[in-house]
Amino acid sequence: MINTLILAEQKQAMLAAIVATSDDAIISKTLEGVITSWNQSAERIFGYTAEEAIGEHISLIIPPDRLSEETYIIGQISNGQRIQHFETLRLTKQGLQIPISVSVSPILNSEGLVIGASKIARDISEHKTARERQAVLAAIVNTSDDCILSKTLDGIITSWNKAAERMFGYTEAEILGKHITLIIPTERLDEEKYIISEVKKGNKVDHFETIRLAKDGRQIPISLSVSPIVDDKGNVIGASKIARDISAHIATMDENKRLYEEVKALNEKKDEFIGMASHELKTPLASVSGYLQILKTMIKDEKAEKFLHKATVQLKKITALVTDLLDVSKIEAGKMQFKSELFDIRKVAEDAIELVALNNKNHHINLDTTHSSLFINGDAHRIEQVIINLLTNAIRYSPGQDRVQVTIDANLQNVTIGVRDYGMGIPEDKLNQIFSRFYRVDNSNPQISGLGIGLFLSHEIIERHKGHIWAESNLNEGSVFYFRLPLTPTQ
Ligand code: ADP
Repeated sequence: MINTLILAEQKQAMLAAIVATSDDAIISKTLEGVITSWNQSAERIFGYTAEEAIGEHISLIIPPDRLSEETYIIGQISNGQRIQHFETLRLTKQGLQIPISVSVSPILNSEGLVIGASKIARDISEHKTARERQAVLAAIVNTSDDCILSKTLDGIITSWNKAAERMFGYTEAEILGKHITLIIPTERLDEEKYIISEVKKGNKVDHFETIRLAKDGRQIPISLSVSPIVDDKGNVIGASKIARDISAHIATMDENKRLYEEVKALNEKKDEFIGMASHELKTPLASVSGYLQILKTMIKDEKAEKFLHKATVQLKKITALVTDLLDVSKIEAGKMQFKSELFDIRKVAEDAIELVALNNKNHHINLDTTHSSLFINGDAHRIEQVIINLLTNAIRYSPGQDRVQVTIDANLQNVTIGVRDYGMGIPEDKLNQIFSRFYRVDNSNPQISGLGIGLFLSHEIIERHKGHIWAESNLNEGSVFYFRLPLTPTQ
């Protein structure tokens, strides 16, 4: 008898200790709802001490709009029924509503009659926030336009979103638990080994462009990003994949490539045409020039002689244009040839000045140099063409002015020739474009026509002589064009 008593006391003490140390709130109440016990966790969760709560009605912690729940619970308990994991809200002393999961059991007396209820309540705020966060993530994953799926390190698919269903044609139910190789073309199985080995090392694989297989056998070009899934101890336990269909992107790239090739082919055709046309024009121009020269010896009439002279000047202009066009097409075809001879560039500059001055009586071209002769190696005729081009531009683009200044400077390595005018100048933002083919700063000025070829040819000629050409300019004040060439050492 004493033994049974001792055992009962020990059991009681043990239960009391469990109740006291439990993380859950453990509360008991009568069938009328009067609180009869209140453990430490109940104090912590609801804010009332045992003294404050015991003897009070349980509605102390029930939000007013949930009082009907209590009637239902008591009804169940009176019938000897238990209630398990009932999720609801309860009120703390501070007036906060907290989400809890509650289990309620009837308390029976020695005759088996229900005399009260014991409640175990668990604060599920954190659990609920985690669940809500998970729901938000799940919603994002499912509404994403990218395929998002996860798999174990052995390649078993563990999640599969709606976009993946649409792209690959497998439903989530069909594919969960299947191996990822289901969507990998046989010849690309090695990729999976590589991806998994990277993920195992904790590395991400970003924007990996590849091809995957849809259920109907279609090959889909995709861009893949794979990240390791890590557990709370930091171990990699799987991989999450985001796949984007890049068919449209690839189609656009293919189209761009096709258009580029088309434009390139058309451009080549145009260059070819310019080349052919200028070549065809050269022969009749040469014979017209020949006939004009013969006529010159035959004509004695002063008026006729004047017209003949005008015709010859115009013919020279056409011939120069056709020659320039032919040169452009030679450059484009990589067929421009240069002679290699030693010549005095000062002499060439003087000849060019003389020639240009002869045809432009309104401008005075002044040469400023301290060097008598300067030898370089290259094509004298082509270098003369550059100087003539710079001089004629200096004259054409300085209407109303009357002088052009030429300078020749040299050190031991290089010679630099400058052609300065006091004309309209070039806007700063256009300066680096004037050496491009067919580029003209202002095409609208009918007084100064041109094709935008001269500087392009000059640039090519100087570069091919291992030199450099550039311009400095101030709008409405004038421009200076310089080119520098390596000197050939003379003994
Ligand atoms: P073109 O003179 O036949 O148009 P160029 O290739 O010789 O072709 O020159 C390209 C452009 O550079 C010209 O159209 C003109 O706008 C500009 N340019 C060249 N030289 C000068 C200059 N001395 N002053 C002002 N602008 C110039």
